[in-house]
Amino acid sequence: MLRLCQSCGMPMSDKGLAPGREIGGSISPYYCHLCYDEGVFLQPEIRLSSMQHLVIHALQRNGWPKMVAWVATRHLPFLRRWR
Ligand SMILES: [Zn+2]
Repeated sequence: MLRLCQSCGMPMSDKGLAPGREIGGSISPYYCHLCYDEGVFLQPEIRLSSMQHLVIHALQRNGWPKMVAWVATRHLPFLRRWR
């Protein structure tokens, strides 16, 4: 099943991002390892607009056209972290 990180919105899967970990080492059901580890957000102060910016750049590095990457970040406000 494809799960999206509820912070950056990128897919977590065997081929995608690894999930983050909770305190004690269990796997986070919500957040990827770039956003979250040891039970805390790695960038606790980051704002939604900055996260969208980061994700657009990450997707562009993976060969996504900028416009498509931008569209792909429009759902971030609806994710668990930002609601
Ligand atoms: Zn993430």
